[in-house]
Amino acid sequence: MKLDQILGKDKITLSFEVFPPKTDANYDSVEKAAFGVAKLNPSYMSVTYGAGGSTRSNTVKIAGGIQNRYGVTTIAHLTCVGASRADIRNALGEMKAAGIENVLALRGDKPKDFEGDPFTDFHYASELVSEIKACGDFCVGGACYPEGHVDSVNKKEDILNLKKKVDAGCEFLTTQMFFDNNIFYNFLYRIREAGINVPVIPGIMPITRANQVVNAVKLSGCNVPERFKSIVDRFGGEPAAMQQAGIAYATDQIIDLIANGINNIHVYSMNKAEVAAGIQSNLSEIVKC
Ligand code: FAD
Repeated sequence: MKLDQILGKDKITLSFEVFPPKTDANYDSVEKAAFGVAKLNPSYMSVTYGAGGSTRSNTVKIAGGIQNRYGVTTIAHLTCVGASRADIRNALGEMKAAGIENVLALRGDKPKDFEGDPFTDFHYASELVSEIKACGDFCVGGACYPEGHVDSVNKKEDILNLKKKVDAGCEFLTTQMFFDNNIFYNFLYRIREAGINVPVIPGIMPITRANQVVNAVKLSGCNVPERFKSIVDRFGGEPAAMQQAGIAYATDQIIDLIANGINNIHVYSMNKAEVAAGIQSNLSEIVKC
């Protein structure tokens, strides 16, 4: 099913993200973990993609497997960094053959070991969106950054660039993680003012290990509220307690978002079925998948 038939309606949706195996050696264990999340029967699932195409066929295999075995609609991520037009067309052909109808179009970041110019046929995600739209009947989404993308000069420029991506055919946007909902509400107000009217899905990252915070901040530059820092300070050294507190914090964020009229929620569940299940169970009377 195409995601535009699932999103932007009155129904509340809860979706989960998984990642594919980086190598064939750990394929079975990673697939098992991703399928464990699929068994929870979320509204849909997204499967990430290794920038540079390193895990391309694994993304397609995992996404196709989730749809065929569990009947859960998937969206496959696709990055254009280091990719030629022919690479992208091949990737889309593989997705089509696997029955995948939804693609999250991303620029990606230059892989560490990449030599040469990684941006030849494509420079920005908006160009990838246009290519996907020209290549087939896919529902296309894109990424957005409530705190601004790290490469952008300022938030205003970033929103103007986001508008180009939507104008190229992007039908919905999923946000980078954030830990303070006011940042999201402010962003939503600014992009609506800029004429971006597609559904915007907040991406919620349940932090269940103290060192995840360091990685999250390094990766995205996102703001960590004092309330959240206290949780990490108090429970960071006790894995089970930290997981419970991280799930509770993410649940709290989600309930506040839904209470404020946001119907589509995406959880960065990172192949952890127990974390996805914890959130789903906390919301059992609020979200009926
Ligand atoms: P773009 O939309 O192209 O934006 C990148 C930068 O370029 C921004 O600063 C933007 O303002 C600027 N820009 C855009 N268009 C123009 C223009 N026309 N002129 C000038 N400047 C412009 N990475 C992976 O490798 N694999 C994944 O599976 C993956 N999934 C993700 C999912 C989500 C929801 C998010 C938020 C990120 C994900 N990423 C993933 C990370 C993403 O690839 C990086 O954040 C990357 O740096 C930017 O990708 P983008 O698609 O947002 O780029």
